[in-house]
Amino acid sequence: MIQFRDLKKQYICLKDDIDKNISEVLEDSSFILGKKIDELETKLSSVVNRKYCVTCANGTDALQLAMMALGIGQGDAFFVPDFTFFASAGAGSILGATPVFVDIEADTFNISPEHLEVQIKNTLSEGKYNPKAIIAVDLFGQPADYDDILSIANKYNLYVIEDGAQGFGGNIRGKMACSFGVISTTSFFPAKPLGCYGDGGAIFTDDYEINLKLRSLRSQGKSIIDKYDNLEIGINSRLDTIQAGVLLAKLDHFFSFELDELNRNAQLYTQLLKDCFKTPSIKEGYFSSWAQYTILIDESLDRDAIKNKLLNNGIPSMVYYPRGLHQQKAYERLNYSDNNFPNTLNVVNRCLSLPIHPYLEENEIRYISNILCCK
Ligand SMILES: *Cc1c(COP(=O)(O)O)cnc(C)c1O
Repeated sequence: MIQFRDLKKQYICLKDDIDKNISEVLEDSSFILGKKIDELETKLSSVVNRKYCVTCANGTDALQLAMMALGIGQGDAFFVPDFTFFASAGAGSILGATPVFVDIEADTFNISPEHLEVQIKNTLSEGKYNPKAIIAVDLFGQPADYDDILSIANKYNLYVIEDGAQGFGGNIRGKMACSFGVISTTSFFPAKPLGCYGDGGAIFTDDYEINLKLRSLRSQGKSIIDKYDNLEIGINSRLDTIQAGVLLAKLDHFFSFELDELNRNAQLYTQLLKDCFKTPSIKEGYFSSWAQYTILIDESLDRDAIKNKLLNNGIPSMVYYPRGLHQQKAYERLNYSDNNFPNTLNVVNRCLSLPIHPYLEENEIRYISNILCCK
């Protein structure tokens, strides 16, 4: 059986460093915060070229903390792509803010700047909610179109929060993912581009005050001077120190080896599949960290049958994602109609994500592609 994302092979490759870092944490016995967390935050902020990094318990909390730090809540609206993982919208909803869904670009599956502006204007003219932020998602590893998004945000005076849970490691003309939002977030869930061995997340900013606020909010809203002096209501969301050990052992290798291998593997897939399926489009000057390699299957073909054929040949595949956020039961009350999301609807009905990871071998990619393309 081919692995969808082979974490075991990666562990075998990096075992010495990972084991050493984990046992250092055990010897040191400081399991929450401490030296390795400081070291990781310094390294992460430097690789994405930001002033501050605040680690936390997972990528969903990272988004929630970002919105809390910006004071977004009841009565506010935030704009979010319709086609993404649920947390991109859920993290703001739990604070009482209202998501406004935006259709995606047909090619990249990222938020459509054109429809974004339409939805901002609609929200303003409706006057029910106060528009506050755009959550731009770097879906499947490719950064969203920040040239356009940032200029729209500027025009309407909105914050940009970058959901880089899938985008860590990507860049636009050398400017790193997680450097585009006033606050950017990522996830270290094991199957993300940079994963730890449990849940984990991080938040990035260049703003000193936001950085302090995030540090307070992740620890019950405590003051810096006295941890039993609570200044506001926060949550408990810290990265475990053992996970920092795992990430420190993986980080250099991720940038020096894994990202290039991912891109080489994606290129080979595209070369072998482009005549049979619609393969991923990466914009000129954009670099993807390939959280997923997702093809579109022609409407005339049966996606389930293709999925089964792959499975019968030992190849897992996934439908990321089977529905748009506007189609989720949790958001039924918002009463969206399908008509506003033609690109999401096209993609949810046709998408199929294939195995991709840095340790996938050329012969495995050729084998998968052969099975997919033979009639
Ligand atoms: C995984 C993911 C998240 C949430 O991260 P967790 O660490 O699982 O909480 C948020 N947004 C996107 C786009 C994701 O893919």
